[in-house]
Amino acid sequence: MSVALFTHSDMIEHRPGVGHPERPERLRAVLDALDDSGLSLDRRSATEAAVADLEQLHPAAYVARLLDASPSIGLSQLDADTVLSPGSVRAARLAAGAVIDAVRAIARGETNRAFAAVRPPGHHAEPDRAMGFCLFSNVAVAARVAQAEGMARVAVIDFDVHHGNGTQAAFAHDDSLFLGSIHQMPLYPGTGAASETGLGNIVNAPVPPHAARQAWRATFSGGLMPSLEAFAPDLILISAGFDAHRRDPLAHQSLEADDFAWATRAVLEIARRACGGKVVSSLEGGYDLEGLGRSAVAHVQALGEE
Ligand SMILES: [Zn+2]
Repeated sequence: MSVALFTHSDMIEHRPGVGHPERPERLRAVLDALDDSGLSLDRRSATEAAVADLEQLHPAAYVARLLDASPSIGLSQLDADTVLSPGSVRAARLAAGAVIDAVRAIARGETNRAFAAVRPPGHHAEPDRAMGFCLFSNVAVAARVAQAEGMARVAVIDFDVHHGNGTQAAFAHDDSLFLGSIHQMPLYPGTGAASETGLGNIVNAPVPPHAARQAWRATFSGGLMPSLEAFAPDLILISAGFDAHRRDPLAHQSLEADDFAWATRAVLEIARRACGGKVVSSLEGGYDLEGLGRSAVAHVQALGEE
């Protein structure tokens, strides 16, 4: 089937400064690689997240503060590595909006598979705190929207190499939501120990630095997939970070593009049994342009398999 691709070129206008790893070229690399792949994609222009949708997860005061946070010139800084340029707030609203649009397209029955090619990423943003390159918690906001659209039980699988502390903070007190995360530990942001379980709806499966591909796969399938299936989701969201690729400069994992396709197929196998194959994936990290592009293509190709 053709995957619906939600993106917008204005997300390139988030420019956090020379030398920042979360750079505009990342989105260009993903979109160029998808173009060159020859995959049949149903391309959609993402829209900005509505304030009311952002407020389904983030406190209204936080949303108001963020919407006013872009400088008119130069850069402004929200934390040590979360930096805003004049185009950043629009980019962040488009990033959250792309995942929301994808969820609503699934709710309307227009597609069963969607990929949101976005930046800035979202999974480090907590309900009331921007951090780690992230402004709005894109996937967690979309999970709330999915619930409002009638999909009562929403699961997130996060295979970004960093722990999704923001998604965890959003889900930890609500067992109608599920988070399964595989990530390197120790690594930024320092959370994500297996002992962090929320109401039993959070499953953290850390892997050590320099883990072999086979060990990563064994942790993913044995550590996350049984809990995902037991949760019986009505929709599965993927926080698709590709920074566990062996070329990535921010972490120390050994994955190849093909491993992301393998992980995608494992999620789809459960999605077919649990929720009619409905999966929305959203880009998180991935900081080596070549590894990022190849991995995104492998992921989206697998996402389109019947
Ligand atoms: Zn990451």
